[in-house]
Amino acid sequence: MKKYSRKLAALAAAASLALTGTLAGCSSANNDHKIRIGIKFDQPGLGYQDGSQYTGFDVDVARYIAGKLGYSEDQIEFVESPSANRENMLNNGQVDMIFATYSISDSRKKTVDFAGPYYTAGQDLLVRADNTDIHGPDDLNGKNLCSVTGSTSAQKVQDKFAKNVNLVKQNSYSDCVVALNGGVVDAVTTDDIILAGLAATKANKGKLKVVGAPFTTERYGVGLPKGTDKCEAVNKAINEMVADGTWERLVTKYTEGTGYHYNTEKNPPSPSASCA
Ligand code: GLU
Repeated sequence: MKKYSRKLAALAAAASLALTGTLAGCSSANNDHKIRIGIKFDQPGLGYQDGSQYTGFDVDVARYIAGKLGYSEDQIEFVESPSANRENMLNNGQVDMIFATYSISDSRKKTVDFAGPYYTAGQDLLVRADNTDIHGPDDLNGKNLCSVTGSTSAQKVQDKFAKNVNLVKQNSYSDCVVALNGGVVDAVTTDDIILAGLAATKANKGKLKVVGAPFTTERYGVGLPKGTDKCEAVNKAINEMVADGTWERLVTKYTEGTGYHYNTEKNPPSPSASCA
């Protein structure tokens, strides 16, 4: 009897091992492992931290893609990735992926890979609601303009308008908004969807307005370490997200009530299989 139950226990252990192996084999993610995803923490509607909650279009797109790669919600660890730190964070292994209003650019592609794009925005201007003389980048002569260190927004202004504009660089767009509300700068520049989210917060509503004349094309990519083998799987997941209606639902959810409408000629993007 004793011998029989020992045998049974051994059989049960072997069966459970085999089952664990099969389950692990089903998923592309190791159940013990977390995936660290870089997002912004202070861009309402895109990447926003509120206590232990993370919300925004980038955050929910990241959740969807991670799910398609086999990660459950509790395997995701969100890590703040400010504009200037994104390439470094991918290169030194602090994050596995970045979803942070991260424009695909040739200079960034020298050090990181991009899947996507999953969204196309355009650079615009944010001014105080009572402003009447700034309608586009050509009206910025002699003005103080705020943008963020390490962003394509600051780079483009420097390349195109540096001679006539006094560029004030901050670490985040929320810091730029403080400077705008305080009268320290005349305008803030970055992507239209970011500016719309900032202007729509309770604190800023009615005080700030987006000019609404985008002057660049910003293709948001999923930042990945150089040499990644994940582009194909991520791009497949992005195309599924568009096809099953999730993309439209998420854009609507996070821009509703801001007065912002995405550019329907450039959205939704349809990434090809390989890296962007
Ligand atoms: N999309 C631009 C960039 O990647 C501006 C937004 C940002 O700084 O995250 O630089």
